[in-house]
Amino acid sequence: MSSTPLRLLAVHAHPDDESSKGAATTARYAAEGVEVLVVSCTGGERGSILNPSCTLRPSTLEEMAAIRRVEMAAAAEALGVQHRWLGFVDSGLPEGDPLPPLPEGCFALVPLEEAAAPLVEIVREFRPHVMTTYDPSGGYPHPDHVMCHRVAFEAYHAAGDAERYRDQGEPWTPLKLYYNHDFSMKRIRTVHEAMTDAGLESPFGEWVETRAAREIVERQATTAVPCSDYFDRRDRALIAHETQIDPDGFFFGTPRDLEVEVWPVEEFELADSRVPTTLPEDDLFAGIRHEEIA
Ligand SMILES: [Zn+2]
Repeated sequence: MSSTPLRLLAVHAHPDDESSKGAATTARYAAEGVEVLVVSCTGGERGSILNPSCTLRPSTLEEMAAIRRVEMAAAAEALGVQHRWLGFVDSGLPEGDPLPPLPEGCFALVPLEEAAAPLVEIVREFRPHVMTTYDPSGGYPHPDHVMCHRVAFEAYHAAGDAERYRDQGEPWTPLKLYYNHDFSMKRIRTVHEAMTDAGLESPFGEWVETRAAREIVERQATTAVPCSDYFDRRDRALIAHETQIDPDGFFFGTPRDLEVEVWPVEEFELADSRVPTTLPEDDLFAGIRHEEIA
């Protein structure tokens, strides 16, 4: 086996997404000696204050961005990962009927090649073996999450091509691309039923009913990474995002001992692989660990 460290690049839309999607997995791999880099595409400038106990009241996009930079640094430290900003401006979540236009200059309106160029540069410099991002729907209908998918997909496929993005460094070909799937119906239902069986009030009751009613066809997870030893680090990273995460809210509505017992994993969908592997997997580096890697 090569002594070259394995490298994982997790591409997210906003600061806090790295703590709610695949967080314990990144913490686990980092603790095991994998080099883990989280990229946030935007500064989260247009996020609302979602934590009712948060006393911060930023009045400009710049003030919000400054607060979220501090939060993100604390989250990265809690997870034990490296972090880089891609440098784009949050598009905000459009609300209303009809939906308002996206704000000028925001991430979701940047032409794809321009938006992907800095990520291609990071891929060629960091040289990840595995990349993670969201599925084409964004996993959640925020324009920055859809754009995050497009940019990461583009970088995964273009970084190894010397003819493309010629000013962005030496080509590097990542070996696997995954999509985060932390909120599968199977997980929500499993946790919901375990809580109900234990006589606890589940935070997922409405979710289970509305999702079932909408009959959404779910994408299939292929890979479940055991990571419950790192749920405490994930929780510390979530709490670090004081403007976004309510310590008494949804993310902390499940007793940790129950969660560890019934759902000790984080799930991913293998979207592309350039190495042979067998599904289902329990390791994002399956098929890579014993290859001669660079
Ligand atoms: Zn987000």
